[in-house]
Amino acid sequence: MTRLSDTETGRLLAQVDGSMAIAERLFGDLAEQTADGGGVTRASYGEGEQLAHDMFAGCAKDIGLEVTADPAGNSYYTLPGSDRQAPRVITGSHLDSVPKGGNYDGAAGVVAGLAAAAAIKEAGIVPAQDIAVMAVRSEECGSWFAGEHGGHLGSRAALGLMKPSELETAIHLGSGKPLGAQMKDFGIDPQRLLDRPPSLNRDMVKAYIELHIEQGPVLEAKGKPVGIVTGIRGNARARAARCLGEYTHSGAVPQDHRHDAVLAAAELLIDLERETLATLAAGGDIVFAAGKFYTDADMHSLTKVPGEVGFTLDIRSIDKDTFVRMSEFATARAAEIEKRRGVRFEIGAFAFSRSTVMNLGHRRSMEQGCALLSLDAMDIASGGGHDAQEFESCGIPSSMIFVRNANGSHNARESMEMDDFEKGTRLLAWMLAGVL
Ligand SMILES: [Zn+2]
Repeated sequence: MTRLSDTETGRLLAQVDGSMAIAERLFGDLAEQTADGGGVTRASYGEGEQLAHDMFAGCAKDIGLEVTADPAGNSYYTLPGSDRQAPRVITGSHLDSVPKGGNYDGAAGVVAGLAAAAAIKEAGIVPAQDIAVMAVRSEECGSWFAGEHGGHLGSRAALGLMKPSELETAIHLGSGKPLGAQMKDFGIDPQRLLDRPPSLNRDMVKAYIELHIEQGPVLEAKGKPVGIVTGIRGNARARAARCLGEYTHSGAVPQDHRHDAVLAAAELLIDLERETLATLAAGGDIVFAAGKFYTDADMHSLTKVPGEVGFTLDIRSIDKDTFVRMSEFATARAAEIEKRRGVRFEIGAFAFSRSTVMNLGHRRSMEQGCALLSLDAMDIASGGGHDAQEFESCGIPSSMIFVRNANGSHNARESMEMDDFEKGTRLLAWMLAGVL
């Protein structure tokens, strides 16, 4: 339970209230200085991200935090603890955004970290170990880098999970340069990444906790300002599936003589939806989408039975067995549909990514914290990937706090109330000062 006395808790909460002025200023400056057509653009290892790191370093110095960076260009704003040699606690998130994205996805976690650190300092609480607010590079690299890379470039580089080859094979979509050359443009020497041991590991980091806006509608629908994340969904993906039928005349050929690729693929998707709903009804966790579904523009026509359709499958669940089973179900159903409709599916091998369960001890502490701080929270799974999963994969106890956000994320209409943000930051500050 908490190390804080009731008096210290009261002082801390009052200071979090005071530090909201810092948060509002940072959000306002970020929105103004990285504005792009209604949204914001902060490219991974690009101008907007760099601007944010420079801005936040200035703010951290004003608060009285130590400002450092690692060889991957991740920034750390550190509040010293009483034992400076002890493994530190890290909180933070990413400062990049998708193109024309929202102001809060990522930045909210770094702003909350700075506000919490300022509050702990001003409340006169000296943490047992250093608390570092980490501004992570390139979490949104999926939107900025093509070619081969393992995602979450900044956190994976810090944790030693990035392969050296990714410096060459990840290609920046803005400049066309490989990651290593792109880093150099922003004063980051990629050679230092290769020469040095990882900046972070489980012996150096006691815990990682990340605040992030919710990217779906659940907290909004349930009327809860804050969510305690149970885990981050893993996935089974087919990136280039096809169904091949036969192009024929859409008037002349009788229905029972057709090999309609679109209808066959549509049947597969409806079967998958039925199985998904059955899994949910049984208490399981699953979502799926065919985000791409397209006929060949050179071949398709109003008056043709479609002979080919391309599609993708993205099946996600907290539970690995669930998404693996669903991928097997898709393959089996496709084989059955092939026979009946005289078509051929080329789904290919599914690619799997692991699911991550958030640290149970952190979650139990957060539940106690919510009761103590009178916060109305609920358990929630994360559908999107986050840096927290990389920390957890290295054996570092990790957790996440979601803050209610209307209109989803990765768009200009992200909408987080500062009142909800303060509630999430209260929980974060309480965890940092008294529990972790
Ligand atoms: Zn994010």
